[in-house]
Amino acid sequence: MRTQRQVVDYSLQKRAVLRELLAGRVGTYDVCDASPYLKNAARFHGEPTDRRCPICRSENLTLVHYIYGDELKQSAGQARTLTELPVLAMTLREFQVFVVEVCLGCDWNHLVEQYLLGRDGLTGDSDGTNEQGAAGAEGAGRRRREAQR
Ligand SMILES: [Zn+2]
Repeated sequence: MRTQRQVVDYSLQKRAVLRELLAGRVGTYDVCDASPYLKNAARFHGEPTDRRCPICRSENLTLVHYIYGDELKQSAGQARTLTELPVLAMTLREFQVFVVEVCLGCDWNHLVEQYLLGRDGLTGDSDGTNEQGAAGAEGAGRRRREAQR
């Protein structure tokens, strides 16, 4: 997406979790814990992929896009389809997107990436970081980061 910026990629963290799992230091029950809300979001707003789940290898992963930001008001923290994001990006100055991959088969879930979208990116006068979104995506990213220490 054209206005996508401040992209944070969580693939290293994900690989670390998968390594821990292979080594038996965490159980599948620790990582396959998608909440009913997350799974509903995946069903109704998710973006299907052709990538197999790294845990059960029987289902394809679904990507869920959560949006956060002051301008969103009551919509903050909700899931949006991928096609809705460019529309929001043209109407709002700045909002945070958290992308979570989910397996509807075994409940595996992990934060994939986060980035900022919005009109501010078009003018280039973005004033930097947006801290308030950091607690988002149902705490998935934070929990994974703790697991890494
Ligand atoms: Zn799975």
